[in-house]
Amino acid sequence: MLKILVRLYLLIIVAYAGALLLIPDAIVGAFHDRFMAYNLDQAKGVQSLIVRQFQQVPREQWPAVESELAETFAPLQVKRLRWDEAELSVAERTRLEQGLKVVRLGEWGYYRTALAPLDQEWLVSFHNPPDPVDINVLSWGVTVLIVAAMLGCMLVWVWPHWRDLERLKETARRLGQGQMAERTHISARSNIGELAGVFDTMAGDLERHVNAQRELLNAVSHELRTPLTRLDFGLVLLFDEVPPASRKRLLELVGHVRELDDLVLELLSYSRLQNVEQARERVEVSLLELVDSVLGGFAEELDGRGIQWEVRAESHLPRFVLDPRLTARAVQNLVRNAMRYCDVALLLRLRLEEDGACLLTVEDDGIGIPLEERERIFQPFYRLDRSRDRNTGGFGLGLAISRRAIEGQGGTLTVAQSTLGGAQFRIRLPAG
Ligand code: ADP
Repeated sequence: MLKILVRLYLLIIVAYAGALLLIPDAIVGAFHDRFMAYNLDQAKGVQSLIVRQFQQVPREQWPAVESELAETFAPLQVKRLRWDEAELSVAERTRLEQGLKVVRLGEWGYYRTALAPLDQEWLVSFHNPPDPVDINVLSWGVTVLIVAAMLGCMLVWVWPHWRDLERLKETARRLGQGQMAERTHISARSNIGELAGVFDTMAGDLERHVNAQRELLNAVSHELRTPLTRLDFGLVLLFDEVPPASRKRLLELVGHVRELDDLVLELLSYSRLQNVEQARERVEVSLLELVDSVLGGFAEELDGRGIQWEVRAESHLPRFVLDPRLTARAVQNLVRNAMRYCDVALLLRLRLEEDGACLLTVEDDGIGIPLEERERIFQPFYRLDRSRDRNTGGFGLGLAISRRAIEGQGGTLTVAQSTLGGAQFRIRLPAG
């Protein structure tokens, strides 16, 4: 916003300066005859008086009259000139030869010099010298103060717009983060009140749609679990009754049913995380202990697969206020993925950032994630082509769940390239 205001101010200042330079000359040029006539009228009284002073005395005394008038009129300059000294244009010469007076225009259409004929040899010139520096500075000061007052008024006018637009921006950002109850609360009397009203209505509609969708997903998932459990139970009971040849087939069916059940469970967790803002708890925990307990759950599998894993933590890490359940859930998913995709190495790092935030990275030496896929993998059900193979397990919900769990606590979850060669997932949790 500040940038917009600075640009607007610069534009106004440049436009005003350009207008001051160009417009007066353009107007005087366009109405030249009228300005000449006006200035001839303005100057004629003084010119006549000066000419009369010369004509009342013989020519020999003109130098004395000239000095006396010069003194009287100073700082205005009264001077006798020979015709050829006056650098007359053709039009000026013609007028003077007809006994008429002449004016030369200066800035803003006011006459700078007025000329009148005395006889065939002499002219008298009456000249306005430029304003002294202090007067010039003062008149520019007036212009600058007027511009400053205008810019000040503009600031007073722009300020409420600025404030309301910032609020609109913040509300849009929060809505984007899933805080669907967020509204602008901008008064209808504000100049952008109408826009804010439409925005709030849109936010309300969005909230209703999202809630309806979530409730539907929840209800369907819940309803699905009961028949799935019955199916699982029924199939297991059948095991002893079917001929041995069909038992393998039956076990496969049980496997499919359980996979479906897992998917429903994942869907329920993902859907519940939508309301993470209201649900989260804040507990002071040691991140190192939390990471250790998550890894403890995978210890058997890690050792069984001969994966070399390591936790590197900064010494003296302070305890952190966070939601332990959500954070552990996010870290679990990342560690599970790293185990799936690593070759042999898995590394977790914990360190404190300068602003007090905590950075937890989970990295591996696997195939990594191509640059163009790094945002998309956080979308629900998004799996990279090479992992469509069910052997890697998963439904493409793990990273979406992790991101929601971390963003719900005001943190961020991103992915980059690890120095080990594979992917590096970065959880950043703000201080406090
Ligand atoms: P899934 O449960 O199917 O693994 P995720 O949401 O956890 O789903 O991951 C989405 C996709 O991101 C995966 O299909 C996989 O292709 C990719 N991915 C996740 N973690 C890694 C990793 N550590 N290395 C390489 N690819 C990964």
